[in-house]
Amino acid sequence: MKNDEFTYEVRCRTCHTKFKVQLFESHAKNLFLVDKRDWYCEKCKKEYFSKQTETLARAHQEIGFPPLTGTDKMVSWAEKIRSELINKADYLQKSLTFDSDEEKERSQKAFAMFFSEWHEKVAAKWWIDNRRMTVMDISKRVNLLSDANEGDN
Ligand SMILES: [Zn+2]
Repeated sequence: MKNDEFTYEVRCRTCHTKFKVQLFESHAKNLFLVDKRDWYCEKCKKEYFSKQTETLARAHQEIGFPPLTGTDKMVSWAEKIRSELINKADYLQKSLTFDSDEEKERSQKAFAMFFSEWHEKVAAKWWIDNRRMTVMDISKRVNLLSDANEGDN
């Protein structure tokens, strides 16, 4: 099979540079994709991701999360994961209801401790390794911290 058959020329939406892509659908479908899909060249894609990473990093810094360490690629991925996990924790915290102010206060303390644990995770790798963390996992950890708090009092 010749690769040429599957090679199509597309234009980057951002910088309008032409570049080649390989598409493996039917010829008609490929032509449709070439025309309709938003294509971005490698350079623009990279810029887009680094801009996105920067935006996330800045937003995270505002809520107490330090910059991540690792390769550009890992940091970029980890920032996205971190943002999703923070959303999950926020969602969990907002969904809780309490029977008493005391209970509420204990929960707030536990969440504060939980988030300060996360503040210390500066290695991009940690976030990537923990990318499958669920709301349930977060809830378990917060409850554990909450119980530990109670023991202290
Ligand atoms: Zn481009």
